[in-house]
Amino acid sequence: MASVTEDQIAEALTQVQVPDLDGDVISLELVSGIVVKDGMVHIMVETTEERAPVMEDVRQQCEKLAAEIPGVLNATAVLTEEREAPAAAPPTPTLDLTQDERRIRSEGVGAIIAVASGKGGVGKSTTSVNIALALSRLGKKVGIMDADIYGPSIPRMMGITGQPRSEDGNTLIPMENYDVKCMSMGFLVPEEEPTIWRGPMVMGALEQMLRDVEWAPLDILIVDMPPGTGDAQLTMAQGTELAGAIIVSTPQDIALLDARKGLNMFRQVDVPIIGLVENMSYYICPKCGDEAHIFDNGGAKETAEKYGCPFLGEIPLDVEIRETSDGGRPIVVSKTSSPHAKAYMDIATKVIAEIDQLN
Ligand code: ADP
Repeated sequence: MASVTEDQIAEALTQVQVPDLDGDVISLELVSGIVVKDGMVHIMVETTEERAPVMEDVRQQCEKLAAEIPGVLNATAVLTEEREAPAAAPPTPTLDLTQDERRIRSEGVGAIIAVASGKGGVGKSTTSVNIALALSRLGKKVGIMDADIYGPSIPRMMGITGQPRSEDGNTLIPMENYDVKCMSMGFLVPEEEPTIWRGPMVMGALEQMLRDVEWAPLDILIVDMPPGTGDAQLTMAQGTELAGAIIVSTPQDIALLDARKGLNMFRQVDVPIIGLVENMSYYICPKCGDEAHIFDNGGAKETAEKYGCPFLGEIPLDVEIRETSDGGRPIVVSKTSSPHAKAYMDIATKVIAEIDQLN
């Protein structure tokens, strides 16, 4: 079958009328981008904040029409907003806190756990992957979802390449390695695409990753959140049926201040904190085996105590952890008897105990 072209998609989208404006999305120049890659279609539809409710309907129609074109495996349409100036007002949550029923669930998935950090580069993805693999080694059916819209790195760390397949054209079969299922925003959104993600788009993509992916049956789905505590993170935390959250932090005070913001964000939207992980906690000298505390260590434990949430454990700064995770062979599966793999296994054991308790 000849591959689908961007022109074909644009042609199909001329059928999508915008109810309050006189015309279709294409002639009104509301489609700011169409990207086609290996049968995956990504459409960007312009909106303003006020018109977002109307445009949500338009967005869904675009997605549906594009998905119906022969040769299209999967179509995502997202709303983007041209922003002239930074918003003066604080972001308003897009969902009503009391409306629990609006939170996205995933059929056949036991517990969805968010792994978050107050800032980037603290090793959140490395920790997510190793915890997911450790949970799997403890006998759980596990999936990992890369929701880090700013830099999806989970497929690489999981040693996964290629694109997810769809058998029926509606749902995607997650990729899999080391017995853990995996999906990433990176599969749906081409890397060169600008990440001007905003609340409604993030929720659209997240919803698709939770509802249109054949995760079931799973005991645990680990969600690698985008770093930070901004609008996108809050929307995700609030809009997803989360069993709990794990916060990853380095021992530096500043990181811990950010970690506290993370704790507060989840508390604000009534998501239980499963616990805190201190990453890059200490350094083991490869030559002499001595432990060196480069950053102030033990801060996460103190923070956990102060905030009344469990402390799950500490992971040292070690080149082996970096090399194995960046090389797609995370330490939990490649060096199963190493002390670091054991540290992650201990954390995973505590995670299971915490979830059981929360249940
Ligand atoms: P984040 O998701 O917080 O941005 P990553 O998990 O991508 O962070 O980690 C950033 C870099 O730090 C990666 O190269 C990763 O391999 C490395 N890294 C993470 N944790 C450790 C650790 N405990 N020891 C050594 N390197 C680590």
